Formats: sequence, structure tokens, C-alpha cells
Amino acid sequence: MSAKRPDAVDPRGSKSPEVLGAAAPDAAGIDGSRSFNTARARRASLMQEPVLVLNATFEPINVTAVRRAMVLLLKGVAQAEELHASEVHSSSRAHKVPSVIRLLAYRHIPQQSRALSRKNILLRDRNTCQFCGRIFSSGELTLDHVMPRSRGGRSSWENLVACCYRCNNQKGDRTPEEAGLKLARRPRPFTLHTSRQLMRLIGHRDERWRKYLFY
Ligand SMILES: [Zn+2]
Repeated sequence: MSAKRPDAVDPRGSKSPEVLGAAAPDAAGIDGSRSFNTARARRASLMQEPVLVLNATFEPINVTAVRRAMVLLLKGVAQAEELHASEVHSSSRAHKVPSVIRLLAYRHIPQQSRALSRKNILLRDRNTCQFCGRIFSSGELTLDHVMPRSRGGRSSWENLVACCYRCNNQKGDRTPEEAGLKLARRPRPFTLHTSRQLMRLIGHRDERWRKYLFY
């Protein structure tokens, strides 16, 4: 547990693998018996389940993984508002698994809170090519400068979009209009509003999140 980050809210967003449920792989080793490994695998996947993080004011601000959420609870930085049915067992005791946690101290979240990065652009565009509208894995997508760099297009939230290689080749060094392509939607900065839309998408999986997200 890192003392540097007192809670799940990484205002830069770029370095946090836990943001919006994309949890880092569990580091648990594979060194026990087969049945023990099965139990471990189950625990590892449970530890990566998404947990909704609320500000002290109950405003939803982030999504983290169970593992991280439990650290925040143990540190006394947050308290559980909703619990999963399941428990995890440490050597000495059983811990209830949170589904929604709330920070005990209010944290100011800047409106424009995300670093401009490939990861965050793909997240904003939901891994969807902004020209053909198809969903791809991250490895199958590139970033396209809507106004090509060669024509003065900047690397900015407003000028970068997720794009599949096929559309990227087709577009080449042209504007979408010149290439006969149409943007699915106008690219915008990744704001708290964007985060909330994503939280709602994830939140459809968990009934316990609804009252915090759908109002
Ligand atoms: Zn495409």
C-alpha cells in the first residue's frame, strides 16, 4: 500500500491502472495446491471487481478496484456505503467486500482532471473507432489527429480521437471531409462529466450503485 496516494482519486488519471475498473492484475503468486489456486483465482478476480468511490458529499467521483478500496477502508480514509454479498478471508479474519465506498474527507476534484494520454483518449472514446464506429481492443486502435499534424493540427483533446488502423490508413494526411469520413462525435476534453458517463455504464452491472449514479 502506497502512502503517497491517500485515496483512489488520482487527479492526473494517467498512472492509475485502477481507474474505471481497469484494475491491475492481481499479484498473488501461484505456489499452492490446485484447490488453493482455485480459491486464490476466485479471490484475485473478486479483488479486481469495480468499486464506486463517492466524495464525502456522496457525489460519485471515481471507480476503483476492490483491492484498492479495501486499503482505503483499512486506512480509515473511506467508509463502506454498500457491500457485496461476498467476503474475503485474510489469515486472521473475514472482510466484507465493498461495492460503494465514501471518502471521509471532502476532496476537491478539478473539472479538467485527466492527463492527455493515449489511454485516456481510448477511455473517453470507449475503444470505439471514431470514424467507422466499431469497437476494438486497445492494441487495434491508434490515435488520429483529426486535423493532420502536417496541417497544423495539435495534439489536444479536441484534435485526437481513437481510430482503427484501417480508417487511419484511409484518412492519411487529410481532414475527415477530404477523406469522405465522418466523426462519430466531436472530441472533447475528458471531464468529470465524461467520468460520470463511464461510471454509469459500469454501474449498470451493480444495483447497489444506482442510487448514487442515477438521480
Ligand atoms: Zn475505423
